[in-house]
Amino acid sequence: MEKIPRQKMPVQNAKARVKNFASVALGYTEEQAILEAKRCLQCKKPTCIEGCPVEIDIPGFIKKIAEQNFEEAIKILKDKNNLPAICGRVCPQETQCEIKCVLTKKYEPVAIGRLERFIADWGIEQIQDTRYKKQEKPRTMNNEQQTKIAVVGSGPAGLTCAADLAKMGYNVDLFESLHQPGGVLMYGIPEFRLPKKIVEYEINYVKSLGVSISTNVLIGKTKTVQELFDDGYKAVFIGSGAGLPQFLGIPGENLNRIYSANEFLTRVNLMKAYLFPEYDTPINIGRNVVVFGAGNVAMDSARVSLRLGADNVTIIYRRTEKEMPARLEEIENAKEEGVKFHLLTAPVRFIGDENNNVIKVECLKMELGEPDASGRRRPVPIQNSEFIIDIDTAVIAIGQNPNPLIPRTIPGLQLGKHGNIITDEKTGATSIPGIFAGGDIATGAATVIEAMGAGKRAARAINEYLKKSN
Ligand SMILES: Cc1cc2nc3c(=O)[nH]c(=O)nc-3n(C[C@H](O)[C@H](O)[C@H](O)COP(=O)(O)OP(=O)(O)OC[C@H]3O[C@@H](n4cnc5c(N)ncnc54)[C@H](O)[C@@H]3O)c2cc1C
Ligand code: SF4
Repeated sequence: MEKIPRQKMPVQNAKARVKNFASVALGYTEEQAILEAKRCLQCKKPTCIEGCPVEIDIPGFIKKIAEQNFEEAIKILKDKNNLPAICGRVCPQETQCEIKCVLTKKYEPVAIGRLERFIADWGIEQIQDTRYKKQEKPRTMNNEQQTKIAVVGSGPAGLTCAADLAKMGYNVDLFESLHQPGGVLMYGIPEFRLPKKIVEYEINYVKSLGVSISTNVLIGKTKTVQELFDDGYKAVFIGSGAGLPQFLGIPGENLNRIYSANEFLTRVNLMKAYLFPEYDTPINIGRNVVVFGAGNVAMDSARVSLRLGADNVTIIYRRTEKEMPARLEEIENAKEEGVKFHLLTAPVRFIGDENNNVIKVECLKMELGEPDASGRRRPVPIQNSEFIIDIDTAVIAIGQNPNPLIPRTIPGLQLGKHGNIITDEKTGATSIPGIFAGGDIATGAATVIEAMGAGKRAARAINEYLKKSN
């Protein structure tokens, strides 16, 4: 019988938070975390672990929180997860570990993600930057005798693969094309959901394991994958993500102030638009913003637009609320903050003024037909239902495809129809021996924890591969 209710996460008030970029969810207090941890039944056969792609000993770390032994709790967590403060914030726990919690059947599941965030944040508070320095393993000068592995892309897939290989004793060099490591964690997910400081902290932890990170290196241009092998790397892991935006393909899409969500969020994150007026970022959104799509990327774009000062922000989506792919929590947050939803609606064309700025979008009403290949009911246009919305800015957030550069520059690499690298799901092995891949470049746009799971599985497989080839 459940005695303690699931502890609610304290959040910043909606009216206040819409005017700032500070964290929306504030994290558990120590008292709340211990209470929540006590709800865990410590099942003999814990099904929650099956739902976690990085195989955290979930009952183990929760037990230590309940016993107030936070130091042990963080050790258990970090044994499997190199980025727990990130996962505790952005993992879709409701469809991963928590859905498998036995309490779900009768009551609400244990708040695994919130507990993970609590303990990871506790660790960050305890071990401040000075301790990283102490932890940092200096790289040996005698590198030739160590097996070198190259990892491409510093998103969650690359970071996890690199960290796990470093823990196994390999000499790992990670190459990132941008000037800052972190991938989508840094340039996609906004500050109010995932503070940059948290990402920096966890990247520093990965570096402290001995991983060296070189930024501004575009593999496929600065150096090819073949050149990495020529330089002595014995295996290469590719985690270059899905950074290629999809567009609507309708007239007027080239007008000014129509952004892909990718460009929009990258400008906000990497050019620090979230620190306006301290930083003057070239991003002009006007008063009325429409966002096309209804996934996490769309919710983020809409909520960022509000914070940049838009009066009206509207999500335009072809299906109904039931089919929206975004996390429920983020849809609720968006609604609370004042984002409006035009459902069963699809854009037909954009209309511009004499300066080529977008000023209107023409839309059509839709209804749902039979399910399509994705299993969701297909939107069908309603004849003569056109209507016009006045807008200043449009953000297109309808999906991303794999980054094409690397796949195109590796002769003979087997690719899927969207340009994704075909891999063995269990090992990340590609069609070329010694080249492994994982995360969004293999699956198409997915989740942080799935990318991390792929990085972890590939690290294991690379270890096996190197042992066999020696
Ligand atoms: C706005 C937004 C919000 C999201 N919200 C969530 C969420 O709440 N929860 C969740 O679980 N998931 C979320 N996701 C999805 C999640 O972030 C991705 O699935 C995940 O980051 C994929 O990880 P990855 O390591 O495969 O790729 P990425 O994070 O994309 O990292 C790839 C890295 O490779 C680098 N790179 C690319 N090409 C090269 C090259 N040629 N040479 C060197 N480096 C290269 C890129 O610059 C990038 O840093 C969100 C995505 C976006 C865009
Ligand atoms: S990493 Fe994600 S899936 Fe794994 S326990 Fe934490 S919240 Fe759940």
